[in-house]
Amino acid sequence: MSFRIAIASGKGGTGKTTVSVNLYHFLAANDGLRISLLDCDVEEPNDAIFFPDASLVKEVEIFRDLPVIDTDKCTFCRRCVEYCEFNAIVVIPPANYAEVNASLCHSCGACIVACNESAITERKETIGKMTSFRPERNMNLIEGRLKIGSSMQTMVIKELKKSAPADDDITLFDAPPGTSCPVVETIHDADYVILVTEPTLFGLHDLKLMVELLEEMDKEFGVVINKAGLGDQSLYDYLQSNQLEVLGEIPFSQEYAGLYAKGDILNKIPQEIKNSYQSIVEAMELRRSKK
Ligand code: SF4
Ligand code: SF4
Repeated sequence: MSFRIAIASGKGGTGKTTVSVNLYHFLAANDGLRISLLDCDVEEPNDAIFFPDASLVKEVEIFRDLPVIDTDKCTFCRRCVEYCEFNAIVVIPPANYAEVNASLCHSCGACIVACNESAITERKETIGKMTSFRPERNMNLIEGRLKIGSSMQTMVIKELKKSAPADDDITLFDAPPGTSCPVVETIHDADYVILVTEPTLFGLHDLKLMVELLEEMDKEFGVVINKAGLGDQSLYDYLQSNQLEVLGEIPFSQEYAGLYAKGDILNKIPQEIKNSYQSIVEAMELRRSKK
């Protein structure tokens, strides 16, 4: 079974993508391990940009089943309304009105079970797509992309994770930013979580939220400090007083930030940054061996 590592951050802009693609790159270079990277940041996936020469393996649409009420069969009994825990159904008997609100519906199917009149059927609705790339023989990169206007991030992430090859040595999940449901969906089955932060007050504030979430979920985690050298001491004080494991520090480099902007961070990695990633890779290898 694959060792699953989620890379998360309490907010965007901390360098989560940079850390994800670099770890992917360095882990794959280690002993020819088979590695998958799942881009679960489905509203704005961008991991694939850093692998322009990767071959496209396949592209598949992701659907969900959306209930539809036939008002000719419906008796407006409101049983389905009572069954729907997401308040996604509106039934107004005097108006002979019954409809499903697609943006609230979670496609759980409970209303279909509830209806004794067989008035509810399902139709397929596209909510996103999944694109698989192969940067190298031992590397899979699978990107989930939410359809514009859809709010089914969690469902797209669920489908994306089902597509991960189970026999890979390591699977990386690049999580969406924040601490909301899509993040929980991404990290809930991870064996280990890497939290990416930066030494600023904003970075610290969002890191605290992530730490609370992971402690509540009883997840093992460690912290990577990106853009080290910027900001102030408060992040370090917090990490020390809470005895949180620091996996590594990625020093801030103006030159590297410029390469990021060009999508070229894997070709010209400064030695100091290479060394930082190597030590994170070693820490992950050690965790995997203990699993
Ligand atoms: S349970 Fe069936 S019959 Fe009753 S309101 Fe819902 S759709 Fe109509
Ligand atoms: S499928 Fe589930 S969430 Fe959607 S309307 Fe029916 S009961 Fe509600």
